[in-house]
Amino acid sequence: MNTEKSRKQIKKMGSEESLHIFMVTFPGQGHVNPFLRLAKRLAYSGLLVTLSAPEYVGQSIRTANNNISDDDSPRPLGRGSIRFEFFDDGWSLDEPKRGDLDSYLGQLEVAGRENLVRMIREHEEKGRPVSCLISNPFIPWASDVAGSLGVPSAMLWVQSCASFSAYYHFYKNLVPFPSENGPEIDVQLPFMPLLKHDEIPSFLHPSTTYPFLKRAILDQYKYLSKLFCILMDTFEELEHENVEYMSKICRPIKTVGPLFKELENSSNETIRVDFLTADNSCGEFLDSKAQGTVVYISFGSVVYLSQEQVEEIAHGLLSSGVSFLWVLKPPSPESGRLPHVLPEGFLEKSGDRGKIVQWSPQEEVLAHRSTACFVTHCGWNSSTEALASGVPVVAFPRWGDQVTDAKFLVDVFKVGMRLCRGEAEGRIVPREEVERCLRAATGGGPEAAEMKENALKWKKAAAEAVAEGGTSYRNMQDFVDEIVRIRGLRE
Ligand code: UDP
Repeated sequence: MNTEKSRKQIKKMGSEESLHIFMVTFPGQGHVNPFLRLAKRLAYSGLLVTLSAPEYVGQSIRTANNNISDDDSPRPLGRGSIRFEFFDDGWSLDEPKRGDLDSYLGQLEVAGRENLVRMIREHEEKGRPVSCLISNPFIPWASDVAGSLGVPSAMLWVQSCASFSAYYHFYKNLVPFPSENGPEIDVQLPFMPLLKHDEIPSFLHPSTTYPFLKRAILDQYKYLSKLFCILMDTFEELEHENVEYMSKICRPIKTVGPLFKELENSSNETIRVDFLTADNSCGEFLDSKAQGTVVYISFGSVVYLSQEQVEEIAHGLLSSGVSFLWVLKPPSPESGRLPHVLPEGFLEKSGDRGKIVQWSPQEEVLAHRSTACFVTHCGWNSSTEALASGVPVVAFPRWGDQVTDAKFLVDVFKVGMRLCRGEAEGRIVPREEVERCLRAATGGGPEAAEMKENALKWKKAAAEAVAEGGTSYRNMQDFVDEIVRIRGLRE
């Protein structure tokens, strides 16, 4: 993106910071992380970027990270700068009703629309007008607001292109999906392997227990015509045919991922937006272990396993004899859940072999030479982070796009083995299966070796995609050029 052409175009418009990108994100960890990563990329290339989210997550982020100040002035980053702007969602910071996502999404839209108009107007008055708004999947109304103010908008899609396609085909009724009358039919989407009924994003299945999430995700398709393009945190080499096809039938798609891969020339400055403080003793634990011997276990920021399932995993870990780093996050205060209890004597029995933390610096853990494999719920961030780090996975999906990601990780990208199919199975995975799978994933047999080889292949492809001249790099540059062009046309 730092090419001469882009630099000249940006210079032509005034100062290098004359482009101001306003990004507004849904307040979930799996959304805020890729948003920050995109914000950093754009800032490095010389733009001013504002990253905005509701104040209640702003508060968690400031408390957990110690690197984001209350002062909202731009902070220099690369050739540009980044600033944070949190807004009031109309509820008190500790409002327990946020635990009910269905009502929160409605509240967020009402308060968010008002605040977005105010913030965009204030920037105009302060002489840093917004050149482009970037919204995200659970807040599709943001592009509607931008349109009403004459600001061009794009969306950052934070799941795979395969999931995007599944939702799109369902919304447009283009292919048959499971229904009340045929709950077990397979789904054939263009340029994809046949998906079994439990491999489509689970919110699309008639048995989903989260119908409001289906509504929330599909809502964005109403506003697609307002977007001049869709940025995706994936890369062409991973989903080439799908991206090309969806670009043709839907809106132009630019793959810009994996966003978590830092550019080689970017500074080492750390800005983190974790909602919980990452335990920085993970590195020390991993340093003490031999290369490729530690199983990393994490189920992301939302999934909360049953007490029984946690016990089975714990017993499976003990009997497998593997070393492990396990993220057991505390329940969120508004969930009303009880913290997990480990089987009696678990910590003594695992001794130096294991470590339990509440939240990890996941990127560092995956990059560490000691990490052998990743037992994951297959959220898209975790999936791309594993792929781009060359770490094989043990797939333990629960719901939503996780079940589709698991299918791709195991059967298409061939970097993983399955431990379960998802929540719809309605079963607790027993300790014997956990043990068997962990032994197979770490044992050095042919299956493990093939997964590792494929994982390293994807790691290389991911690095090439984001490096100067790579597909994601060029797409990011095209995106900036497009904003410059649109702004030029409007002046
Ligand atoms: N993550 C982390 N530390 C942890 C667990 C998760 O930093 O202990 C990060 C992880 O790197 C990823 C995000 O949290 O960027 C989780 O996103 P994902 O899409 O995988 O799952 P979600 O939380 O949305 O279900």
